[in-house]
Amino acid sequence: MGILDKLSAVADARKTLFPPGVDPLNVVIDEIYSATEASIGGHRVLLAGTNNYLGLTFDQHCIGAAQSSLEKEGTGTTGSRMANGTFAGHRDLEKDLANFYGCSNAIVFSTGFVANLGVISTLAGPGDVIVLDADSHASIYDACRMSGAEMIRFRHNNIEDLEKKLKRLGPKTEKTLIIVEGIYSMLGDCAPLAEVAALKKKYGAWLLVDEAHSLGVMGVHGRGMAEASGVEEDVDFIVGTFSKSLGAIGGYCVSNHPELDLVRYICRSYVFTASPSPSTIASVREALKAIQSKPELRTRLWDNAALLFHGLKELGFELGPDLSPIIAIRAPSREKTLFAWKALLDKGIYVNLVFPPAAPAGMSLLRCSISAAHTSEQISFLLQAFAEIKLLIDEQE
Ligand code: PMP
Repeated sequence: MGILDKLSAVADARKTLFPPGVDPLNVVIDEIYSATEASIGGHRVLLAGTNNYLGLTFDQHCIGAAQSSLEKEGTGTTGSRMANGTFAGHRDLEKDLANFYGCSNAIVFSTGFVANLGVISTLAGPGDVIVLDADSHASIYDACRMSGAEMIRFRHNNIEDLEKKLKRLGPKTEKTLIIVEGIYSMLGDCAPLAEVAALKKKYGAWLLVDEAHSLGVMGVHGRGMAEASGVEEDVDFIVGTFSKSLGAIGGYCVSNHPELDLVRYICRSYVFTASPSPSTIASVREALKAIQSKPELRTRLWDNAALLFHGLKELGFELGPDLSPIIAIRAPSREKTLFAWKALLDKGIYVNLVFPPAAPAGMSLLRCSISAAHTSEQISFLLQAFAEIKLLIDEQE
């Protein structure tokens, strides 16, 4: 057996899952026209699976800031901040993030994935315990494995199970980090964060919240699920990404624990990787301003999400439990999900096709993520297309 043999299993799985000529995991966007439209396979397509919640990828202020930074600072940093130095923008964005959250400390990372990987595996180590929601993102799982801490899963969003697991730990809870997400990325359901925070306090544990999908989306000021749940003071660490509502790439961690600043000296995914490009940092700084100065984007986002969510429910689709900008449709089988995904693309609509293990509990999903940039006409177009798809799926049964 050679080291490449395991990859033939990947080729076999692709052949079994997808008919010849259809490769939903390798879709090429030939041209991108706006936050909601692109060209795929020579056709103009409405994008409904981008995570571009506030539509800021084409915001003129963000683009302008990135362009001017490109001119002044060049295309990249070509190294890590430890070795090559911190650009003023990195330092300023950390100040912006700390101010935005009202926290004393912030660290910027190169992606949200490596922010989770680095922060979690640095905070928790051998002898510590991590209690995490079973539906946590891959970066959280990888971080837990890397940390060397004991890893205990609780059933997704199940407070009774979380308490059971904490109770069993006895005095070890003071060395226990609880990890949950604000909005879960696949079904768009929300963590019961007020109850999680209450348990964290009751058992004297620590709490880290991944706000990747809730930054800019939840809370009156857009600070995420901790703000929306009124528990910001009880959350020890917030991790997030620049790749969704901020429309760029990168990640961060904020905290009121001054020790967070020391994480950067030993965190391998900070020390040994190149820092974000100055133009990326410049656009993120503008996007963070937009989250604060344009609450109307959040209003539009939620109006759009409600239109699609309730419209799809009326059509009889089975959706995730909570209304949120992530709207996932459960299809009865992999074959039907793939059929519907392809039929939508043929109608000029791109959504995410999600199979297990990316989707939880063995589900097959058509995952939509809605943006403030969608117009009401685009939402109507989506609903019309889904109505036609429903008829096609029902006809097959
Ligand atoms: N956490 C969650 C919950 C996510 O959904 C994602 C991205 N899908 C990440 C972290 C990683 O973020 P990034 O894309 O910035 O690496």
